[in-house]
Amino acid sequence: MQVKTLILGAGLTGLSTAYHLEQAGETDYLLVEKEAVPGGLCASVQKNGFTYDYGGHLLHLHTPYGKKLVKKLLSKNCALLHRNSWIYTGASRVPYPFQANLWALPAKQRQSCVAEFNHRPVLKNIRTFEQWCLAQFGRGMYEQFFKPYNTKLWGLSPARLTAQWCGPFVPVLSEKELQQSLQKRPRKTYGYNASFYYPKKGGIGALAHALAAKTSHLQLRSPVTAIDLTRKIAVVKGKEIHYRHLVNTLPLDRFICLLKNQKILKKQAKKLKSAGVTLLHLAIARAVEPFSWIYFPEKTVPFYRVGLQSGFSPANAPKGTSLFYIELPGLHKPSASLKKKIWNSLLQKGIINRSDRPVFSAWQHIPAAYAVYDKHRDKTVQTLLTRLRRQDCWCAGRYGRWEYTFMERALLEGKDVAARVKK
Ligand SMILES: Cc1cc2nc3c(=O)[nH]c(=O)nc-3n(C[C@H](O)[C@H](O)[C@H](O)COP(=O)(O)OP(=O)(O)OC[C@H]3O[C@@H](n4cnc5c(N)ncnc54)[C@H](O)[C@@H]3O)c2cc1C
Repeated sequence: MQVKTLILGAGLTGLSTAYHLEQAGETDYLLVEKEAVPGGLCASVQKNGFTYDYGGHLLHLHTPYGKKLVKKLLSKNCALLHRNSWIYTGASRVPYPFQANLWALPAKQRQSCVAEFNHRPVLKNIRTFEQWCLAQFGRGMYEQFFKPYNTKLWGLSPARLTAQWCGPFVPVLSEKELQQSLQKRPRKTYGYNASFYYPKKGGIGALAHALAAKTSHLQLRSPVTAIDLTRKIAVVKGKEIHYRHLVNTLPLDRFICLLKNQKILKKQAKKLKSAGVTLLHLAIARAVEPFSWIYFPEKTVPFYRVGLQSGFSPANAPKGTSLFYIELPGLHKPSASLKKKIWNSLLQKGIINRSDRPVFSAWQHIPAAYAVYDKHRDKTVQTLLTRLRRQDCWCAGRYGRWEYTFMERALLEGKDVAARVKK
């Protein structure tokens, strides 16, 4: 078989690439996906009347084109929601973001945050996330929230992470705003996720299905198992496909493992590190007070975030029930003892109560959920992408480019790579 463009992976990036190629009149492409459904991490699972995603998957749309495309695809199946999130630290419940809600801390912790903020270091050559936090917020906020939460999530101390990823994700406050945050809840909302869109029905997978419906050459249940960049041949489902351009959206490290020869690339790819996530979806037979998601920086709590899937859309769970998604750092084998530990922590934090009974549960694993921004990441990724580009291979998406981004970027990168390939 012969195609002009072969796209690997029908997550949002691959689907968007195919969609934009077709919109531009390019139909000589093939999009291959190993799973039976399209969407990758933007797929949803429907079971026993419950709909759940791969953890919270909310649409943060910040560009006019991103908004226009999602609205075109989802049409009326789209709701605008507003964040209602907080952080549990010790006995305190601090609205998110922490740095804008110091008023919610006990007096002693609040004073330590302010004193350290007033004496925060002026750092010129910021290399690590730790240095960035200290320079922006001071040691008080760093020790109380940023350090424990990020160590838990990334599995690495912020002293060993770079600050490359944090720009869009960690809101920075002015001196005046921080002083105001000591007094009362701010009126202003902070952060990229203060409001978000979510499908009214079908979970986030509705977006992937809408894109897939406009993609003529999608082949499901078709894993790519080997790639020869020199001869421009990929083996998909045991058959050779000759291509002119290759678009990769698979995790960069796994993609490089599939390459024939390419010793230099394989050696470089060993430097890429990722953090896995285990998810427990758990439903109880009671409608809880609505919230979006809650952060848990403490080491003693097994999860780092809990969200209310049934809060994003009533269609996600049967009436009178609540469906939570519980995100644990790292990959854990599902077990009754782990479930019990999670249940007890939910009880202790007041998310559920003693009379609650589970009515549904399901586990999920995301092996490479977060590309780790350690000191090797930037140079390694740059080298790999440049070398691959020379061999007519374009990498796109959160995993293809080994970056920390969200779904809107996947849609935009797909558009961008389609335009480049067409050129
Ligand atoms: C825990 C978590 C929470 C998140 N929350 C949000 C959020 O709230 N909002 C947001 O905007 N973003 C969120 N994201 C990010 C979002 O999931 C990604 O940005 C986006 O889904 C990436 O899409 P992608 O197509 O680039 O990658 P993927 O979705 O990973 O797609 C890659 C595809 O390649 C396929 N594949 C793999 N190997 C092969 C093979 N050998 N052959 C063929 N196909 C293969 C996979 O099955 C998959 O379908 C979150 C991510 C995580 C991990």
